[in-house]
Amino acid sequence: MPKTNAYLDHNASTILLPQAKKAIIDALELAGNPSAIHRDGRVLEALIEDARENVAKAAGAKRSEVVFTGSATESINQAIIAGVKALKLDKIIISAGEHAAALNAAKSCEQEVIEVFLLDNGQIDIAQLKDELQKLDETGQTALICVHEVNNETGIIQPIKQIETLVGASRHFLFIDAVQAFGKADLSFSSRPVDMMAISAHKAGGPVGIGALLMKSHCDEVRLIYGGSQEKGRRSGTLSAPLIAGFGAAAKQFSQSYDAKKINQLVEMLESGIKKLRPDAVVFGQDVPRMGNIINFAVPDLKASIALMGLDIEGVSVSSGSACSSGKVTYSHVLCAMGISPELATGRLRVSLGWNSTKQDVEAFLSAFGKMLKQHDKGLQSPKAEK
Ligand code: PLP
Repeated sequence: MPKTNAYLDHNASTILLPQAKKAIIDALELAGNPSAIHRDGRVLEALIEDARENVAKAAGAKRSEVVFTGSATESINQAIIAGVKALKLDKIIISAGEHAAALNAAKSCEQEVIEVFLLDNGQIDIAQLKDELQKLDETGQTALICVHEVNNETGIIQPIKQIETLVGASRHFLFIDAVQAFGKADLSFSSRPVDMMAISAHKAGGPVGIGALLMKSHCDEVRLIYGGSQEKGRRSGTLSAPLIAGFGAAAKQFSQSYDAKKINQLVEMLESGIKKLRPDAVVFGQDVPRMGNIINFAVPDLKASIALMGLDIEGVSVSSGSACSSGKVTYSHVLCAMGISPELATGRLRVSLGWNSTKQDVEAFLSAFGKMLKQHDKGLQSPKAEK
C-alpha cells in the first residue's frame, strides 16, 4: 500500500521516534529473560531499569512508582478493577468523558458507579463531583475517583488541580488517565495528590503494546495479573525488554522532538484554513483550554464517514474521534455528554498532530479537505441527492 501524504492521527497512535526504533531493534538482538540471574538476564534487567528511569523522569515519578503493563487499557483496568478491591472502596465516581477502557472497567465492578457529567464546554462538572463526595462523606463511604487529564477526542484539558484539591484532602482515592498528557504536559506524579496514573508509550513516540501504571507505594497491593511476581508482584508476566527499551528511549527523547510552539501554530493554521473553507464549521472545546496538537470539528451536513473516505483517497489520515475496534464511525459519548446534537456529532473529524508533523501535512489536509467539500457540495446540489 502506498504511504499517505499526511499522517494526522497522532492521538490514535504517534509515529515511532527513530531513537525508540533503534532501542527496540538493539534489544531484540539480545537473548534471555530479564528475571534470569545469569549475565544475559542481567543485561536485559539493566536495560529495563534504565528505561524505567527515563519513563519516571518524563512523568515526574520515582523509579519505584513505575509499573510496566501491556497498554494503558491494562493500566486503567488494574487501577479500577483491582483498585476498588484492594483499597476496599465502596463506590466508583467516574467522569462521563472517560475512555472506553475506564468506563467499561468501572461497569464490570460490583461497586455502584456514579457518573459525573461534563459541562457543555467539555470540562468535568466540579460542582457535581463536590456534591457526590459530600454525600459519600455523610455516610462514611469511600470511592475511587476516575478522571482524565486531557480528552482524547477533543483535546480539552480538565480542571485537574481543582479535582485534586477536592479529592486530595479526603479519604477517597484519585486515579488519572494521563495518556494524552504524557510527554506534552508536566505530570509531576510524585508531588501531586494522585494515587495512580495511566500512561502509554505509543501516544508519545514509543511502541504500541507497552504502557505503565504509576502507583504511589500505598497502592502496591493493587494487582490485576498474578504470576511470577515481576514488577514486585504488582504486574506479573515476563517483561518485554524490547518494548520497554523503546518506551524508555521515547520518554527520554519526546520532549526534545515535540516542538509544542510549532505544533500550536500548525493547528492554528489548520483551524483558520478550515474556517476559510467552511465558515460554519464548529470546533469543539473552543471556550476552554485545549491541548495544542488537536482540533475536533464538524461541518453541518457533512458526515464523517464521507469525509474520512474522501480524505483517505487523497492520502490524508485523520479520524472521527477515538479509534474504535470496528474501524467504523460510531457515536461519540464525549460529544454527547457535552450536549452536542447527534446530527452534528456524526460529522466530527479529529485532526491530531505529532512530533514530526509539518506545514506540508497541514497544506495536504486543507487541499484534500477543500477537494472533498467541493465533491460533497456538488452531490448535495444534484437532483439525485434530493430524492
Ligand atoms: N486513555 C486514553 C485517553 C486514550 O486516548 C487511550 C488510547 O486511545 C487509552 C486510554 C488506551 O491506551 P492503549 O492504546 O495504550 O491501551
